[in-house]
Formats: sequence, C-alpha cells, structure tokens
Amino acid sequence: MTGGGGPGPAEYNLLQQQLVAVRARLDRQVAQLIRLNELSDDLLHRTGEVPVAEVFSEAIVDVLDVAAGIVWVLPRGEGACPGHFQVFGVDPASADWSQVGAALVDWLGSGRTTRRLEDPGLFGLADAGLVDPLVCRSVSRDGTTVAVVLAANTSTTAGNYEPVGEETGEMLAILADKVAAHIDNDSAQQLIRSQLSQLGESEERLGLVLRGTNDGWWDWDLDAGTCFVSERWNQMLGHLDGSAQVQDHFWLDLVHPTDLEAFEWSLTSALQGSAEGVEGEVRLQRADGDYLPVLVRGSISRDADGTAVRFAGSILDLSERKRHEADVHRLAFYDPLTDLPNRRLLLDRLHQELVTNRRTGQTSALLMLDLDRFKTLNDTHGHAPGDELLRSAARRLLGAVRASDTVARLSGDEFVVLLADVGLTAAAATEMAEKLARDVLEVMDEPYEISVGTVHHSASIGVAVTTDPGVDGDTLLKQADVALYEAKGGGRNTVRLFQEEMQQRVDDRSELDTRLHAAFDRGELAVVYQPQVDAAGRLFGAEALMRWFPVDGQPVGPDEFIPVAEESGFIHVLGAWLIETVCRQIVEWRPYLPPGFRVAVNLSAPEFLHPDLPERILETLQRTGVTGEELRLEITEATVVTELEFVAARMDMLRAHGIEFSLDDFGTGYSSLNYLRRLPVSEVKIDKSYVSRFLRDHHDEAIVRAVLTLCRTLNLRVVAEGVEQEDQLAALTAEGCEFFQGYLFGRPQPPAGAEVLVTAARAAR
Ligand code: C2E
Ligand code: CA
Ligand code: CA
Repeated sequence: MTGGGGPGPAEYNLLQQQLVAVRARLDRQVAQLIRLNELSDDLLHRTGEVPVAEVFSEAIVDVLDVAAGIVWVLPRGEGACPGHFQVFGVDPASADWSQVGAALVDWLGSGRTTRRLEDPGLFGLADAGLVDPLVCRSVSRDGTTVAVVLAANTSTTAGNYEPVGEETGEMLAILADKVAAHIDNDSAQQLIRSQLSQLGESEERLGLVLRGTNDGWWDWDLDAGTCFVSERWNQMLGHLDGSAQVQDHFWLDLVHPTDLEAFEWSLTSALQGSAEGVEGEVRLQRADGDYLPVLVRGSISRDADGTAVRFAGSILDLSERKRHEADVHRLAFYDPLTDLPNRRLLLDRLHQELVTNRRTGQTSALLMLDLDRFKTLNDTHGHAPGDELLRSAARRLLGAVRASDTVARLSGDEFVVLLADVGLTAAAATEMAEKLARDVLEVMDEPYEISVGTVHHSASIGVAVTTDPGVDGDTLLKQADVALYEAKGGGRNTVRLFQEEMQQRVDDRSELDTRLHAAFDRGELAVVYQPQVDAAGRLFGAEALMRWFPVDGQPVGPDEFIPVAEESGFIHVLGAWLIETVCRQIVEWRPYLPPGFRVAVNLSAPEFLHPDLPERILETLQRTGVTGEELRLEITEATVVTELEFVAARMDMLRAHGIEFSLDDFGTGYSSLNYLRRLPVSEVKIDKSYVSRFLRDHHDEAIVRAVLTLCRTLNLRVVAEGVEQEDQLAALTAEGCEFFQGYLFGRPQPPAGAEVLVTAARAAR
C-alpha cells in the first residue's frame, strides 16, 4: 500500500513502464524522423528527375514498420507501392494511380488530413477485410494536394492483424509532408532550372547574335545621359581599353564632319517622333584618327507619354564592303596592267568633256597612239615582256602630257590621251594637240630596257580635233583611230591629223576586207607562178603569187588586198591555203622539174611572226609529201627588223628541214647589211624599182653594184626582179648578176601555163 502523496511501488512500476514505453516510442519516432530526414535530404541532393513516389513508398515499410505502403504524387500522376502490390491487390501495370489518388483526396476532404480507410475496396484497393489502411494527404505550399500516402498492416485472415497505430499515423503525416515538400522543392527547382536555362539560352543566343553579326552595339539612356557601348564597338573604333565608354552622346563627336549634319538631322527626327529610328552610313573616327565607314541602325524607345527615353542600336563595319566596292570600281574603270583609266572610264570622261565643251564653246581634242611593232614583241617573246613594255610606255605617256589630260589604255598597245583646255578655235586646238603629240612621239622614241633586253618601239599617233557640238565620243575616237592608221601607213613614228577623206579610205578598206572573205569562200583566189631563171636561161625556180579574180569584176592585185588581209588577220587563212596549194602543185609538177628547183612563197611580217607558222608549214609539207628542199620562203626586211634574234632562230629551225630563205625587196627598206650577215638567207632579191632605174640612175646603179659585190663575198645568190628588157638583162649580167625574174622570162601565170613553161625549159636544156 502507499502512504502519503507519493506513488506506491506498483504505481511507480506502472509509471516506470509507461515511461519506458513512451521513451521507447519517442526513441523509435526520433529514429524514424532521423531516417525520414536523411532520406529526404538524400533525395534533395539527387539531381534530375527523382522517383519521389518510389523512394517514399519504400520508406513507409522500412521506416514506419508497417506491412505495406503506397505513395501518390498527384501533380505528376505518379504512384508506387513497390513489392507490396499483393497487399493492396494493385496491378502495377494497369494501376491508374492518379485516379485512385484523386478518389482518396475527395474522400479525405480538404487540408492536411489523416483517416483510417474503412473500406479500401471502394477505391479499387484490396478487400477491406485483409487490410486496415491509414491514409494521409498533404498539401503543397499553394494549398493544392500533392501527396497521398497510405500505410497498412495485413494478415491472411480477416481481423488477424495489427492495425496501423496512431503514432505511425503521425509519422505517416510527416512523411506525406516530406513528399509534399519534395514536390514543392522539385517543381520550384524545375522552375528555376527552366528559367535559368531559358535565360541562359536567350543570353547565349543574344551573345551569338552579337558576335555573329559582328556589329558593335550601343545603348544610350537619354534620361540618365549615359551610353553603354559593347566590346565590339570599342574594338571596331580601336578603343581597346574601353575608353570610348563615356557619357551621353559622346559618339556623335566621332561622326565625320561631312556626315554629321545629315546624321544629326535623321537622329533629331527620330527623337522627335517623326521617324521610328535611324539608319544610315557615316564615318566614325577611330582612336588612331582614321575614319571607319559604318552602317548605323538605331531605334528609339519611348515612355508612356511618347517621350524618347532610349536610343539603342548597332554599327556595322563597312570597310570591307567599301574596299570591295572600290575594287569593283577599279576593275570596272581602270586597266589592271597600267592602272590607267580603261575604255569605259575614258568614254565617260570624253562624254563629260563633250557636254561641257558644247556649253562653253571649247574645242575637244584627243590623241590615239599605238606602239609600233608591239604585236611582234608580243608574238615573239610572249606576254610578260609585252606587259613590261606597256607599263613603261604608260609611265612615259603620263610624264609627257599635262596633269589635266586623261591618259587611258584602250586595249593592247592602244592608248588615248584626252586633252583638256585646248582652246576655243579649231586652229589653236590643232596646233596644241599636234605639239603635244610630237612631244609624246619624242619620249616614246627612246629605247626601253626590259627583261628581254633593249627594245625600241616608236609610236604612231592619230589626232582628232572637233568643234562640232553634235559629235559623240565614239565618233571622235574613231576619227583618231583612222588618223592613227594613216600615221602607221605613213611610216610609223608619225603624227597624223584626222581628215574627212581618211574616213573614205577606211570605209573602202573595210568593204574590201568583207569582199575578200566572200571571194575566198567562193574560190575566187588563185595562185600564179612566175619563172626564175639563171644566166643560161635555165629554170631554177618559180615564185608563187596570189591573185584574186572576181567572177563579176576586175582582177584585184595582191598589193591591194594583202595589206587589208594583214590588217584583219585574214592573211593567216590565205597563207595557209596558199602553202597547201603550192605543195599540191609541187607534187603534180615533180616529174618534170629540174633538179634543185624550188617554189618561192611570200610571207609577210605578220605571217612569218605568227607563233604557229613553223608547225603549220612543216605539217603541210609532211601531209602533202613535199620536202623542205622543194620550198623557198621569201621574207622582207620589215619582218626582220624588230626581232632579229627571234627571226634568225626561227629561220634556222626551218632551214634544218631543208627550207631555204630569200630576202625579198632588198634595197627598199632598212637595207641593213647586218641582216645579211646575221640571217641564214641563201638569196637576196634586188627590188624591181632598182632594176627599172638601174640604167638611168647612177645612184641606183651604185647600190645594185654594191649589193652584188657584197653578196658575192657572202656567197649569196642575187636575183634581179622585174627584168623586162634585154638591155636591163645585159647590164645586170655585166655587173655579175646571174639570176633573174621578170616579164622578159615569163609573166606570172596559172599552173597550166607554167607546166608548158617547165616542159619547155626542160626541152631547152
Ligand atoms: P613581190 O614579192 O615583190 O612580188 C613580185 C611582184 O613583181 C609581183 O607582183 C610580180 O607580178 C611583179 N613582177 C614580176 N616581174 C615583173 C616585171 O617584169 N615587171 C613588173 N612591173 N612587175 C613584175 P604581184 O604579183 O602584184 O605581187 C605584189 C606583191 O604582193 C608581192 O611583191 C608580194 O609582196 C605580195 N604578194 C603576192 N602574193 C603574195 C602571197 O601569196 N603572200 C604574201 N604574203 N604576199 C604576196
Ligand atoms: Ca616576192
Ligand atoms: Ca620583191
């Protein structure tokens, strides 16, 4: 029994037992809490999608000492009761977690609640008799249901189970809270993550855009009077230390003074609201003082009142584009070789000049110039030395004219000088133009030192002067061209002023060229042969000469059409045809020909200097079965004069194939005895003009004598051409001349006639 107020030993024992039980329960609860906390901490540190339902449904069994548990995470429609499906009769494959969860939430009512589930069968769970589930719902911070947890003990027979205790219910509620907290946390984190990633993405995108566009950005806060500029901005303007990031409208000070007014005007209109923004090209001064061309594009932001508060935009570096434009311009208007204006720019300036002169009454004048025998240099040495020569010639030209004159290169070796301010009258202008032209001739006549050696290319100049206000640039150029042609015909290194009658000659020539082409196609060209004989009258050769017999007109002589064909380049076609025709003739004649007989073929300078000539001849010989020993080529001093070395080498090469060379028209041109020594010629032909004057003119007589003497020394055959009379023959023979060609022995005649002649010559032997 107990005495007094204190508990008796029995009560004490009971209390003691209760205390132990409470402490045990508390210990258990503390341990459970610790484990739950650990668990949820763990989950918090897990990254990525955390299987919250799964982890906590396991914890229900592990930590709370019950037979089975289910966790629903409602917002995700997720649910789990791993390993305990049979307890609740849930088929995990077909479980519609959110539906069961939502039904339970309805049943539980609002807020955080824990209730014993009397009839789990209602919710599609197992037979009520086998389980005694305790359900708890938890809400998230915003009050929506996020978690429903359920724990149950079970037995195989009805009623034979340990109900889930109240204290376990408290832990279940805590666990539900933890689930809710996780969901909250998770979605918060997800939100942050997604926001962060969006931010990151757009930041990145912006960065990419900024870097990608290569634009410099500025953001000018009009209220605060500050202006932010991007790194690229500073870089573009050479402010590498960012020193351009100063206050306010600083950068307007950088705008080139010439561009400033227009730019400020468009800026003001934008600020005042009459324009949305600003777009335009300006030059901004760089830190080093240079100006950078940029495209400025800016837009204005306004506040609610419509007041401009911000002006932001970009500058785009245009220097590359400008450079490109300049390149394009240079390519379009300047000759890349000499840097001189090209034809297009010349025509443009000429047009301007003519328009101005029409107004002021001034005369217009231009010189057209080309280098004598330039083509020969190009053909014989290739383009590089030709280019060198053209560059030097361009410099000389520039030096010879006034600064106000325009020197342009039209094409090849053709230059034009457009003269400025030549005066009001045609007479004054002509005098000035001719004087300038002579100055130019003088400087161009100096030899050039280029990589292949010293070369000499004088110039020929055509001058055109006009006071006609209606004349156009093309016409004036054509006139100068015509005058130039005359200058070249006049012996080169010459100036000619355009005259109307020159035009007629040009027109005639071009008409003749057209007719010649057509005539050739119609087969109106023929080859005639003139015999060449020795002192005993024996035939040793024949010269092939071209003839044009139009079906409907007078025969046209080669002196008339060959120069035209040379000029148009048609001579190469004619020449190829001629050599072919001659070779076939040789084959036909061969049985009748005396030994050593050769047919002589004339080659004019452009023909002989043509790059393909040797191959063409050798190929024709081979194809027709003719040998080099049956052919003689006649060239003139005009062919030799520019490129002695080249010509000599080419002749050597052809001679190696047996072809012989004859120097035609000797005495009419340069008559340099040097040629005779340096060139592998076998024969010299004294021009018929000497032969015809020989008996009358002592001077000519002396020349013929000198040539004969010299050729005897050099062991060269001399053929006198154009021998028409017996007394000419006698006088020449007396001087020691042994070979002749002329009407006295036979006119040039068609092959049929020549056959007779050949046969006759054979018979005479
Ligand atoms: P060339 O080479 O000096 O030819 C000699 C010219 O003198 C020929 O004139 C010939 O008919 C002419 N002739 C010959 N004997 C006499 C004579 O006793 N008295 C006179 N007054 N003349 C005589 P043709 O046939 O009119 O040829 C003129 C020039 O045309 C040739 O002068 C030659 O330079 C050129 N030529 C002719 N055929 C060809 C050709 O196939 N190719 C080239 N490149 N030029 C040719
Ligand atoms: Ca000849
Ligand atoms: Ca001749």
